[in-house]
Amino acid sequence: MGFSKEVIVSALTACKRHCCICERSVKTKIELHHIKQKSKGGKDSFDNCIPLCFDCHAEVGSYNNEHPKGNKYSEKELKKIRDDFYQKIDNGFMNIDTLNDSDNEKFQIFKEDVIDIIEGIIDTDFAAQPFSLELTNELSLIVEKWKKRKNSFDNKIIENIKNDIVHQLQCLSRYFILNDYFHLISGDRLIFNNYPLEKLEELRSDTLDIRRSLNNLLEKIDMY
Ligand SMILES: [Zn+2]
Repeated sequence: MGFSKEVIVSALTACKRHCCICERSVKTKIELHHIKQKSKGGKDSFDNCIPLCFDCHAEVGSYNNEHPKGNKYSEKELKKIRDDFYQKIDNGFMNIDTLNDSDNEKFQIFKEDVIDIIEGIIDTDFAAQPFSLELTNELSLIVEKWKKRKNSFDNKIIENIKNDIVHQLQCLSRYFILNDYFHLISGDRLIFNNYPLEKLEELRSDTLDIRRSLNNLLEKIDMY
């Protein structure tokens, strides 16, 4: 037996389908974790249940006591994280109105910095179209700027979105640093070398993934 329907509904409602650890809104990509393992006598109760996203669930569940690396989450800690988070949801924290002034101001600047460039990236087929060299410079500047600690957000959701965006931009800019993918043509534009074939396939599928992720992230920004 797993958690009863009542427990599942209560837990998913209490967290509004956000992961209790990373605090992302994950909708259906959510799982209910037994804080105390069933094999160790953990119950199927609301108190022993914490809703987690797939990533955090894997992280919490994969800790190997035989080969300890890092610090595992204790049962007490997981309960505290969950209770604090339920409280936060209850207080309406996950609403953008609660962004503090400093976050709010920073977020406007962040949007101005990234929205145009992300839209440009989404529209570019890097394996087939030339694009401006300027884009690669802008990318590095944005990544450098928003990786800085002083440019982090207090609001965890916004901070996570920002980190995801910076990560995707960084993945993309890695291709521009390596000279073996692109060469310069007239008008200060770059175009893919078109060989060897493995690289073409790699670049095509990788940049497609990046563009898809950025598209999703852009939708998240738009919600705010
Ligand atoms: Zn998570």
